[in-house]
Amino acid sequence: MHEYSVVSALIDEVEKRAKGAGALRVALITVKLGAQSGVDPRLLATAFETFSDRGLCAGAELVLEEVPARWACPRCGEAPAPGGPLRCARCERPLELKEGDEILLAHLELEVPDHVY
Ligand SMILES: [Zn+2]
Repeated sequence: MHEYSVVSALIDEVEKRAKGAGALRVALITVKLGAQSGVDPRLLATAFETFSDRGLCAGAELVLEEVPARWACPRCGEAPAPGGPLRCARCERPLELKEGDEILLAHLELEVPDHVY
């Protein structure tokens, strides 16, 4: 399943950053997930629970921020109405996806010795 490789890469990245910061554990992970990223948020959450049972991510909370897809004409920049055709009404060109295909580690909350941030 695609979500498992996404989560595996995500946890690697989180552990690397947490170790770099000298963290005892990871409290919270915020991920921006594009509507066109091809990842199902529910499957991602399930995969995260499966993978985060040990290491610095054990017990960490995963927050998914869904990013809606944003399309625009590559020529005139015209953006379509939501739910409209993916073709520019003026230029007849296929629209480009400008936003909404990302899977991005947006924010981490780490527990470090003495204080939390
Ligand atoms: Zn156009």
